[in-house]
Amino acid sequence: MVNLKMKTIDEFQDYQERIDSICGRTEVSQACMAMLKECRRELCVNFPVKMDDGSVRVFTGYRVQHNDTRGPFKGGIRFHPDVNLNEVKTLAALMTLKAAVVNIPYGGAKGAVVCDPKTLSIHELERMTRRYASEMSNLIGPERDIPAPDVGTNPQIMAWIMDTFSMNKGYSVLGVVTGKPIDVGGSLGRFEATGRGCMICTLLAAKHYGIAIPGATVAVQGFGNVGGNLARMLAQKGCKVIAVSDVMGGICNPEGLDIDALLQHSQQTGSVINFKDNNSITNDELLAMECDILAPAALENTIHEDNADTVKARLIIEGANGPITPEADEILNDKGILIVPDILANSGGVVVSYFEWVQGLQSFFWTESQVNQQLELVMSNAFTEVIKLSIEHKITMREAAYILAMKRLDSALRLRGIYP
Ligand code: NAD
Repeated sequence: MVNLKMKTIDEFQDYQERIDSICGRTEVSQACMAMLKECRRELCVNFPVKMDDGSVRVFTGYRVQHNDTRGPFKGGIRFHPDVNLNEVKTLAALMTLKAAVVNIPYGGAKGAVVCDPKTLSIHELERMTRRYASEMSNLIGPERDIPAPDVGTNPQIMAWIMDTFSMNKGYSVLGVVTGKPIDVGGSLGRFEATGRGCMICTLLAAKHYGIAIPGATVAVQGFGNVGGNLARMLAQKGCKVIAVSDVMGGICNPEGLDIDALLQHSQQTGSVINFKDNNSITNDELLAMECDILAPAALENTIHEDNADTVKARLIIEGANGPITPEADEILNDKGILIVPDILANSGGVVVSYFEWVQGLQSFFWTESQVNQQLELVMSNAFTEVIKLSIEHKITMREAAYILAMKRLDSALRLRGIYP
């Protein structure tokens, strides 16, 4: 198992301190800063679900709406046994900034249920999801707040949420969630969009940093939706993916892993471990590997002050949200490692979620190549704006991304004003 320092870290306080520090260096209004430091609404629900053995279990769920100055709230739903309100608040706030960095008309939100979905039967998972969707039904909606998948949730779960919401309305509401299966209004390209966005950022950052992509060595932590797709796409571009890991542990091969075969193995066995004749490694060993590109794509705070100094990669692509603590960030910056921050690197998912929402509202669906082309355009524009700001002001890409997002949010707030 992995050694994370997750629960001793107050992520929301770290986020607030980051906002304070960025505001000290840019001209963002006091009103904008005060609003960004708090969440607009926090719903906590404890709801009963009938289990297969006839007993009733009470689950705890959350929906946090951080800010909707630039458009409806938007953010994924996480099913995880360790999730807590502070984590959901932080992830909601990151969504606000992410939508602003890539300049799409959304605010930020996040939801979660404290559970291990792997221990529930498919029927229990469906009943739990539908009841959670009902509990959230006053908050969500295509003009209000649009959930999507995150860790532990998938297109099937989005289909159940869409159906539950639609049953209560009396008609089908495609725009209430994104990340749906294609047959119920999903978008082509959405499933792999976050990995694709990370891949686009990797190529752009590698070019900027002088790393030749064919032959570049890559280590990916987390082999789910984001990490699995990113590893597959980078391998297709000619990178040598030398190590990957998941919650059970990792594997490595200095000659490069066969990612397609590994994806099959992981789907069949539930983990990347025990794959062919490759060497076993721990998650901490993966983070410390000698490689050109490291992509932490699992959970928050996996690179912290106690292991940051061991990182040897030249470039880090934050596939996960918040994988680097502020203390670790400083250590990595001092080491001269270029970090493409989460609010830019993993924004491909929300960008294609936006395309899915637009397609659903218009009942007019795009081809996969249209989706991918538009994604590439949005991601490269955002990347170029962030790197330009970072070079001009001699600041990190994270600082530049925060400044860009906060300026856009500040401008929207000035135009709208404070009600009444
Ligand atoms: P997922 O559930 O599909 O995969 C998560 C992966 O991380 C799995 O391989 C799991 O085994 C591994 N993992 C979990 N805990 C771990 C640990 N402690 N150490 C090492 N590995 C661990 O989730 P996902 O959708 O790929 O999301 C991964 C990260 O990317 C999260 O931070 C999520 O918020 C972020 N993200 C996801 C999306 C999306 O569209 N799915 C979009 C933006 C950001």
